[in-house]
Amino acid sequence: MNMLTIDKYEISIQKANTSKLKEVIPSDLTFGADYSDHMFTSDFRDGEWIRNRIEPFGDISLSPANCVLHYGQAIFEGMKVYKGKDGKIRFFRLYDNAKRFNISAERMCMPAIPEDLFATALKELINLDQDWVPNLEGCSLYVRPFMIADEVFLGVKPASKYKFMIICSPASSYYKEPVRVKIENKYSRAARGGVGYAKAAGNYAAAMYPSNLANKDGFHQLVWTDAVEHKYVEESGTMNLMFVIDNKLVTPSLESETILPGITRDSVIKISKDLGYDVEERQISVDELIQAHHNGLMQDAFGLGTAANIAPIESIGYDDGEILLPPIEDRHISNKISKTISGIKYGEIADTYGWIEEL
Ligand SMILES: *Cc1c(COP(=O)(O)O)cnc(C)c1O
Repeated sequence: MNMLTIDKYEISIQKANTSKLKEVIPSDLTFGADYSDHMFTSDFRDGEWIRNRIEPFGDISLSPANCVLHYGQAIFEGMKVYKGKDGKIRFFRLYDNAKRFNISAERMCMPAIPEDLFATALKELINLDQDWVPNLEGCSLYVRPFMIADEVFLGVKPASKYKFMIICSPASSYYKEPVRVKIENKYSRAARGGVGYAKAAGNYAAAMYPSNLANKDGFHQLVWTDAVEHKYVEESGTMNLMFVIDNKLVTPSLESETILPGITRDSVIKISKDLGYDVEERQISVDELIQAHHNGLMQDAFGLGTAANIAPIESIGYDDGEILLPPIEDRHISNKISKTISGIKYGEIADTYGWIEEL
C-alpha cells in the first residue's frame, strides 16, 4: 500500500492485482453495467473526513441497523470524464458537480465534502483508472460520487458518521433512440419546499412507480408537471427539458426549486446565447406546448443531462393526444448545440468558458 499526499490530502492507494478491463467490450457498453478497477472512499468521523483511500472496487459491509438503510440519508452526483481523439482525458465542470453535491448534502443534513478533496480524489482515481476512459465516439467514463449515512442506530435524526465514495463505469450514450415521453398529470416528483433540487436517492425511488406505469404504456419516460395543478412542465427522468418554439429556446425556470439544476442545462443555456439564440427560462404550461404544436410552431424538444447528453424527444403524449416532433435531421438548433457541447467535452472545440480541466 502506498501513502500519497496530494495537495493537502493524504490518500492511501492499494492497487488491484488484476484489471477487469479486458472483460469489457467497448463497442457494447450498457449504462451502469461495468465498474472500473478502483474506488475512492473517505469516512466522516468526529467532524472530519478521514481515511481517504483508493482500493480495488469491491463490496462494502454495513450493519443491518445502519440508519441509511432505514431513513435514506443518501445523495449522489453524476459526471463524465472524456477521452479525446488526441488521447487527452478531460473533466467537464468538475467543481460545479462538487458544489451541487454540497447543496444536496446541506438539504439532507449531511456534512459538506471540501471541493478540493472531491476534486483531488476524483483526479487520483481517474489517473489510476485512465485506461477505462473509452475513446469511442459518444463514449465516456461515467463517474458516480455519492455519500451515505454510516451509523448504527435506529433513531430518526441526522447521523454523525458518513461515507463518501466515488465509483466509475464506462458508458455509451444513455438513450440509443429518440425518446417518447408522457405528460404526468397524477403523480408528482417534487413540491415547493421539498427536496426536488437535491440529487437525493429517495427522489429516484419515489419516481419509479409512476415511471413504470408510463413504461407499460409504451413511453420511455414521463414529463413531470408541478405538484399543485399539474399544469406546468418541470423535467423528465434524470433530464432537464428544453423546447424550441417559434425559433426560441425555452426551458422551465429553477425558481420553484422543484427541478434539479442540471449542469448540462446551464451549459446549453450559455452556449445557445453565445450562438445567438434567444433563450427563455420561465414557466411553460402543457397548454402552451399543445397550442404551439397546433400552430405549427413546435420545432423541437429535447432532454438535457450528463447521462443522456442531449436526448431528442420524438413525441410527447398527453391526455388523449400526442405532440409529434420533427425528424432529428431537421432540428438544426439542437443539432448545432449538441455538436458544440460535445466538441468542448472531447477537446475538438476550444473551451472559452473555463469548463474543462485536463488530467
Ligand atoms: C442529474 C439530473 C439532471 C441533469 O443534471 P446534469 O447536471 O445535467 O447531469 C436532471 N434532472 C434530474 C432529476 C437529475 O437527477
